[in-house]
Amino acid sequence: MTSELHDVTDEYGTYAPKGAACLLCQREIKPTERARRGYLTPEGGGKRGDMNPVYHHAQKCPPV
Ligand SMILES: [Zn+2]
Repeated sequence: MTSELHDVTDEYGTYAPKGAACLLCQREIKPTERARRGYLTPEGGGKRGDMNPVYHHAQKCPPV
């Protein structure tokens, strides 16, 4: 895996789509939990529009 987390945007947090799993702890992010969104660059690069959004818990799992 060469994917890398990029651009954790939403300064104030957001909510993940239903069923989204936390990137860091792999648990589901519940609708009541705040999440932050970042983007994974696809392997081999690719355009920005090809990036996949990923979510993690805003409080329990801060990005390193
Ligand atoms: Zn988590």
